[in-house]
Amino acid sequence: MLLVCSSRCGGRLFRALFAEVEVDASGAYQDHRVTQPSYVCLNCGAPALDLGAVPAELEAQAQEEEASSSAVADVLCPVCETMVQLDANMECPNCGSPLEVS
Ligand SMILES: [Zn+2]
Ligand SMILES: [Zn+2]
Repeated sequence: MLLVCSSRCGGRLFRALFAEVEVDASGAYQDHRVTQPSYVCLNCGAPALDLGAVPAELEAQAQEEEASSSAVADVLCPVCETMVQLDANMECPNCGSPLEVS
């Protein structure tokens, strides 16, 4: 787990919103259990984000981008007959004619 303040105030202390604290008969702290992974920044009160959970999401996004960027097609420009690799840019880099992937 790597908590950061969502408003980036630089606070380093966070409070678990849903935690059960176990005490002994005199009320002294013994142990605690976080019942829900939800935290706030003690410095400014903004919700905290768990950066430890982010890399998996970023990886999934990167894989999606890879999949969409692999949809590249070679097209022959009908105007100047240049072989063009189409990706997001749908016009001929040579003469500027609009191209379509067939
Ligand atoms: Zn903060
Ligand atoms: Zn062209």
